Amino acid sequence: MSQFWSPIVRTLTPYVAGEQPAISTLIKLNTNENPYGPSPHALAAMREAVEDGLRLYPDPSGLPLRTVIAETHGLEPDQVFVGNGSDEVLAHTFQALLNHDKPLLFPDISYSFYPTYCRLYGIAYRNVPLDEVMRVNIADYRQDCGAIILPNPNAPTGIALPLGEIETLVRDHPDQVVVIDEAYVDFGAESAVSLIKTCPNLLVVQTFSKSRGLAGLRVGFAMGQRHLIEALERVKDSFNSYPLDRLALAGAVASWQDRDWFERHRDLLMNSRERLAIGLRDLGFQVLPSSANFVFARHPDKSGMELLHALRERSILVRRFAGERIENYLRISIGTDAECDKLLAALAEI
Ligand SMILES: *Cc1c(COP(=O)(O)O)cnc(C)c1O
Repeated sequence: MSQFWSPIVRTLTPYVAGEQPAISTLIKLNTNENPYGPSPHALAAMREAVEDGLRLYPDPSGLPLRTVIAETHGLEPDQVFVGNGSDEVLAHTFQALLNHDKPLLFPDISYSFYPTYCRLYGIAYRNVPLDEVMRVNIADYRQDCGAIILPNPNAPTGIALPLGEIETLVRDHPDQVVVIDEAYVDFGAESAVSLIKTCPNLLVVQTFSKSRGLAGLRVGFAMGQRHLIEALERVKDSFNSYPLDRLALAGAVASWQDRDWFERHRDLLMNSRERLAIGLRDLGFQVLPSSANFVFARHPDKSGMELLHALRERSILVRRFAGERIENYLRISIGTDAECDKLLAALAEI
């Protein structure tokens, strides 16, 4: 606390990101990064962008990237918004579209950045509990509210809702914005992008951090009808004209266009996930059904804290979250098969 802080800063509870250790010998399964990294074409495009010279500002609206994303989904470039990681896109979304007199709804167990944005922007919110098997029950969202946001698949459970249920949720609330945060959608869930044409209240947010192996580049995007995208642009152009630099734009465009690299490594990762889930179940873990690049699992005889520390002693990082229903779960990012095997061996020992 300092006398120089603005009143709002005194009230904030910032989000705490997973550890990024300085030692690279650790097996890092704590922040859902992609073990395979980006497409080599993305790296080449970024090297070229360095050579081209960084003297000039980048395109302020990220048009080259919006254009390729739009083409893939049959949208217009002005139905796509790009930003510095989907966290920034989400922050603008909270300010531009989710701040209303009535409370914003999101699951009680969900991405822990949502309540942080609510505090930053002074947004009233209400948590909707997951059901007994940790699923989002869309019927529970039939209540008076200002807007709705949920990740699909949900984080940190990894459980996905089918597209039909997302559609029902969006159509149940024609007068509220519904944001679907699809950070993990590529690992086996169905995207809601196809609903955009007929749902003026739907915004879909995705990222290059997970399925495209570019967490370090900071590129995220939102898709929706023009009027929603315009709201995001109004906030962005009141905040930072150039959220994506020249390297990020070049790398993201080339990554997006390398469909083959993307599909091969996504498939590898999904196979590793099933392999890891079997290995964990063999050790007595309960593993929630995951459509993401992580699994959420608990052991009936060991606390989450115990396991977290015992793994850390064996140079393996995983993530654990506080909260009554989830404190004994570990969220384990899917690494290479070799990394998953080391994790299983360590857990067997523990
Ligand atoms: C990882 C994650 C994000 C943020 O990703 P960026 O790296 O900021 O693009 C957003 N939402 C959820 C649910 C995530 O897990």
